Amino acid sequence: MKRVAYPPAIQALTAELKRLPGIGPRSAERIALWMLQSRDARPLEIARVIRDVHETIHACPRCGFFATEALCEICADPARDLALICVVEQPTEILPLERTGVFRGLYHTLGGRIAPLDHIGPEDLRIDTLIERIKAEAPAEIILALGSDVEGEATANYLAQLLRDLPVQVTRLAQGLPAGGGLEHADELTLTRAMSGRTAVKS
Ligand SMILES: [Zn+2]
Repeated sequence: MKRVAYPPAIQALTAELKRLPGIGPRSAERIALWMLQSRDARPLEIARVIRDVHETIHACPRCGFFATEALCEICADPARDLALICVVEQPTEILPLERTGVFRGLYHTLGGRIAPLDHIGPEDLRIDTLIERIKAEAPAEIILALGSDVEGEATANYLAQLLRDLPVQVTRLAQGLPAGGGLEHADELTLTRAMSGRTAVKS
């Protein structure tokens, strides 16, 4: 006897949903059936907003953040401090920094970090465009806001070396203790960096 399965259209939807991060086969099937059956599902609305995002969002050619106009909202804002460029790995790291409210400069997204094991070298990152920007925009300071793991360190060191002869100051984010954490819970590396990155409270 032929084994009955869902019609091809349902299977195709399930297969696409299964590709989403964090969605396994069972969840994919459950979501597909929900879209088909639930009164609240609004599947055409979901399809429309997915198409909208795909057609209207592009990477800002200057900084790499998400943009709908020629430049992103940050680059187009005349109130930003043009003297500061904060270098991050991914565009998703910009909003957490923005929410702190302490940085009013511009950003530059690398699109990743140097990771030899994953075959990601400097030429795969937006490093050329960073150099071009420094020459064209003449910022006073480049802030390297990269991860504190081995690959983040390697990328920061590479950039520091590369920018050495350009007329721009290069800084890194301070690394220290997590907010609300006591010394006894901090690992050795964190404590070492917190000690070497200490700041004056009285001089
Ligand atoms: Zn931008």
